[in-house]
Amino acid sequence: MARRVAVIGAGAAGLCAARHLSARPDQFVPTVYEQTGRVGGTWVYTDRVGTDEHGLPVHSSMYKNLRTNLPKEVMAFPDFPFDSSLPSFITHQEVLRYLEDYTDHFQLRKHIQFLTKVDTVRPVPCADQMVWEVTVSSVEEPEKKTTQQFDAVMVCNGHYSVPYIPAIPGAESFQGRFIHSHEYRSPDDFEGKNVVLLGAASSGQDIALEISATANQVVLSHEKPPIKSQLPSNMKEAPGVERFKAPKTVRFTNGEEFEADVFMYCTGYHYHFPFLTPECEVSVQRGRITPLYKHLLHTSFPTLSIVGICCRICPFPQFDRQVLFAQAALDGSFALPSREEMEEDIRRDYHRRLDAGKPPHHAHEMGEEQWEYNNELSRLIGLAPLPKAVELVYRGVHHERVNNLQWYKDGQYEITGPESWRKLE
Ligand code: FAD
Repeated sequence: MARRVAVIGAGAAGLCAARHLSARPDQFVPTVYEQTGRVGGTWVYTDRVGTDEHGLPVHSSMYKNLRTNLPKEVMAFPDFPFDSSLPSFITHQEVLRYLEDYTDHFQLRKHIQFLTKVDTVRPVPCADQMVWEVTVSSVEEPEKKTTQQFDAVMVCNGHYSVPYIPAIPGAESFQGRFIHSHEYRSPDDFEGKNVVLLGAASSGQDIALEISATANQVVLSHEKPPIKSQLPSNMKEAPGVERFKAPKTVRFTNGEEFEADVFMYCTGYHYHFPFLTPECEVSVQRGRITPLYKHLLHTSFPTLSIVGICCRICPFPQFDRQVLFAQAALDGSFALPSREEMEEDIRRDYHRRLDAGKPPHHAHEMGEEQWEYNNELSRLIGLAPLPKAVELVYRGVHHERVNNLQWYKDGQYEITGPESWRKLE
């Protein structure tokens, strides 16, 4: 009998799950729960911050003028290219349109229950096995709840919605404005202001550059090596923040001080699974979810998977491999190792990272490791690897970005073969 699979979320990961599960109706029956009225997750831009029209926390961290920081050539799902007439670095509207096209092409809407929020997921015994009891509520009528049983659950709820804000001494005395990048929408709000941004990952760098067009002075505070490329004349870097002093002083660890109207945390997000009950035995520390074999499958309950938790990756291609891997574990075409072996694999992976000098909260950070990880998932389930050209373009663009942060998005890339690409002049 076909396995009933609950998919939580209709962002890129949930859509990918629905696409592969629904392709095998004799084996799987997916039900996708999406709390908003649309597919696309974080790519659904809204001017709103705080809560949405239903009183739920705004999910998306998209900003008005965002263009992708990866070229569309490496962003696409392996079985669904972007429209080739688009430039390489595209707007958030174009990514959303792509995800809507993917939804329609694979006829996924009939599997999605919109405006339906997953409240709880609980493992329960049923005859001689275990099933998942999933309770959902209508977003428009929250008292309207239903509970259904599933053979498996794929959690695809995204991880860029719940801001991580580090504690910094003196924050209570700062009389400027605090904001997290989750709530950043437009540079217009920063006209003539002095702004400090803390954190120089993709969003921190991108937003600092955007704001520099309207702000008076912009300081990007971070502890990474200095940015190599030329920065706008009103933007500079500073080391980490030591403390705040009333009324508006930000003091950096090198002793320098700056008077800021606005302080923006570009410090990332928490993983957040409020619907997983304690019986699910999922532990979430800052930047680390356990026990997930291959960053994906629960070692005690492998019918529970959490798709898309890795960072510094090409997300859509990796989601594709993760979904296919989870599916192969469900239908038995991939025989999982014993629980002890899976836990040893997690331990090895984590300690290898620590030994390489990474902090504990980088437990799911990939960067250069993503290629071998994707290949390993493919290999274990007997699939051909993703095209090498994706990796090569990703590296080429990274090099370009490091040296030319302000203008690298003007570049146009083309994949010319499984292992070849070129930058168009
Ligand atoms: P999401 O897109 O967050 O989708 C999760 C879905 O789950 C949402 O629709 C949400 O409403 C739903 N949901 C959550 N909880 C529940 C619940 N309890 N019940 C029902 N539904 C629920 N990636 C790139 O490839 N290129 C880029 O250039 C790029 N730029 C980015 C810029 C920003 C500012 C951000 C925040 C991310 C960017 N990303 C980029 C990464 C992006 O997050 C991924 O590409 C991808 O869209 C994540 O998809 P997801 O499905 O995991 O999560």
